[in-house]
Amino acid sequence: ESFLTRLRLNEPHLRSFLHVSDSVLAQARELDEKIQRNEELGPLAGVLVAIKDNICTAEMPSTAGSRVLEGYTPPYDATAVRKIKELGGIVVGKTNLDEFGMGSTTEASAYQVTANPWDISRVPGGSSGGSAAAVSARQCMVSLGSDTGGSVRQPASFCGVVGLKPTYGRVSRFGLMAYASSLDVIGCFGTSVADAGILLHAISGHDRLDATSSKREVPDFSAQFVSMNLLESKPLKGLRIGLIRETLDDGVDTGVTSAVRTAALHLEELGCCITEVSLPSFSLGLPAYYILASSESSSNLSRYDGVKYGNQVAADELNSQYMDSRAKGFGSEVKRRILTGTYALSAGYYDAYYKRAQQVRTVIQKSFKTALDEHDILISPAAPSAAYKIGEKKNDPLAMYAGDIMTVNVNLAGLPALVLPCGFVDGGPAGLPVGLQMIGAAFDEGKLLKVAHIFE
Ligand code: GLN
Repeated sequence: ESFLTRLRLNEPHLRSFLHVSDSVLAQARELDEKIQRNEELGPLAGVLVAIKDNICTAEMPSTAGSRVLEGYTPPYDATAVRKIKELGGIVVGKTNLDEFGMGSTTEASAYQVTANPWDISRVPGGSSGGSAAAVSARQCMVSLGSDTGGSVRQPASFCGVVGLKPTYGRVSRFGLMAYASSLDVIGCFGTSVADAGILLHAISGHDRLDATSSKREVPDFSAQFVSMNLLESKPLKGLRIGLIRETLDDGVDTGVTSAVRTAALHLEELGCCITEVSLPSFSLGLPAYYILASSESSSNLSRYDGVKYGNQVAADELNSQYMDSRAKGFGSEVKRRILTGTYALSAGYYDAYYKRAQQVRTVIQKSFKTALDEHDILISPAAPSAAYKIGEKKNDPLAMYAGDIMTVNVNLAGLPALVLPCGFVDGGPAGLPVGLQMIGAAFDEGKLLKVAHIFE
């Protein structure tokens, strides 16, 4: 009840949700009755989870923030959602996002702009801005987002919460509406590292409905929080941490750099050995990402033709029905991505753009591999600035894309990364949070969670 009250009070200012469930209390009461009957409860019993609206939920609309899917309710739950429900979690509602995950502020949602709880004149980040704001304002306990190029980590940084992007393949993508399939992952938000880790554990694992989901064993990420000795003076003794040099270059706000450097000192006090490491291909990540993500999206979004799903614009003839449904259904950022991607994939340009970007992706993967052979974890800011004003970058797509510099490389390499608050810069009524990004080796989320938990 307290969460629902806060949700209702905050919602007119924040607009985090596109849909709120009307059965939350009834579900909670059912759990109370189970307790009275001494029935066993799942590990997520009573946990209020918000779900990004590009993740399918059987009993609630799932629009991906797009008019093209207005009024669409999927016939099934995404695997991650099914698992949460089976473990007793209660889905509190669907959160706002940039249309199909394309954006960094939630301003590209077809329905509403979400505000940052730290300063409602600012963006919460994106594309999972609704999920980050909802956790930050305690409208729910934890939430799911998706991260194709930073959409869990950058909003976590802007909203001062923990955001966890798992290794590609750790969590099933079944029921996640595809943006760029080779980069997309479902990720977790929480107010603490432990909460994000417990949620990740709940949704991880192989799924026969997603051929790219990994068969690797899922360690019990939550068990380690209990066994850790936080009173030791150097609990992280010997851990090798690489501070990525290229992420502290020009173009990064000085307040952000100094918060990250202070965090590095704190890690050193905890026993870590910190060295600067260079990833020479780092700056190539952004152009490679935008070519690959747009290319994949131009193919994935062809399914929204007004026939198979959602909204259909009536027309006399099939081709105009397709064209009108898309013209009215898609927003301008989505159209820009589809056009860019179609161009990059077209005969004559394919070699110069798509193929080249794939080659760059391999170079980036190798440079991360080398750096992670020598270090346990790499660290960097999560974004070059703290949350900026609503409207500030809305009409300048390139400036907005440039803000993804810290996060996109991680998706290109398929690695896990966790963002957690590490300081503040001036701004807003109470300062604005800055996020520290920790990047680990593939399938080593356990180590990220351990280090972050001790750091926190
Ligand atoms: N901002 C990036 C983009 O627009 C990342 C989005 C995401 O991770 N879904 O593509």
